[in-house]
Amino acid sequence: VTSTDKTGHGGARLTVLAGPTAVGKGTVAADIRTRYPEVWISVSATTRKARPGEVHGVHYLFVSDEEFDRMQAEDELLEWAVVHKAARYGTPKQPVLEKLAEGRPALLEIDLQGARQVRETMPEALFVFLAPPSWDELVRRLVGRGTETLEERERRLDTARVELASEKEFDVTIVNASVREAADHLVKLIRSPSISGKS
Ligand code: 5GP
Repeated sequence: VTSTDKTGHGGARLTVLAGPTAVGKGTVAADIRTRYPEVWISVSATTRKARPGEVHGVHYLFVSDEEFDRMQAEDELLEWAVVHKAARYGTPKQPVLEKLAEGRPALLEIDLQGARQVRETMPEALFVFLAPPSWDELVRRLVGRGTETLEERERRLDTARVELASEKEFDVTIVNASVREAADHLVKLIRSPSISGKS
C-alpha cells in the first residue's frame, strides 16, 4: 500500500467519528475497544454525571465544572463543546498528539461541533459520519435508551435533526445498520488511509 504522508505525524492519522445523537457512536466505539484493542480511542473529559456502568478513565474522565474550566483556560483541550445544552465535553489534547507522534492511529468519538473544531486545527484528519439507517430508527434508538427525561429527549431530537443535515461536510459516511459491520468498516478506514482518497 502506498500512501503519501501529509500528516506530519509519522504517518499515523487522526480519525474523527461523529454523527447525530443516539446513532450509536458510543456503541461502535465500545465494539472497537473490545475487538480491536490496538486502536487507541481518546477518553473525553465531561462535566456530566457517570451513568451506571461507566468507569472514570475508561468511558470518560468525569470532572467538575471547575476542573473543566481549568482545562479550557490552560488550553489542554483539542476541542470542546456543550452538548444537548446540558454538559461540557472535550478531548484532552496531549494524549492525542502523543499517540500520533508514536505513529499510532488515534480515534475521536465526538459530536458535530467538536468535529468542526478539529477540522479547523487538524484538517488532515479523516472525518467519518455515522448515519442511522433511517430517521424512524434514530427516534426508536433515542427513546429505547430510556436514560433521559422527556425534556432531555426532546432536546436531543432537536439536535439530531440539525446534525443529520451535516453529513455532506464529512469525508466518508458509514450507515450504522449493524454495529459490528460499522466497527469493521471504520477500523478498515483507520488502517488504510489511502482508501478514503485522503492521506
Ligand atoms: P453521552 O452523554 O451520551 O455519553 O454523549 C453525548 C454526546 O457527546 C455524544 O454525541 C458524544 O459523541 C459527544 N461527546 C463525547 N465526548 C466528546 C468530546 O470530547 N467532545 C465533543 N465535542 N463531544 C463529545
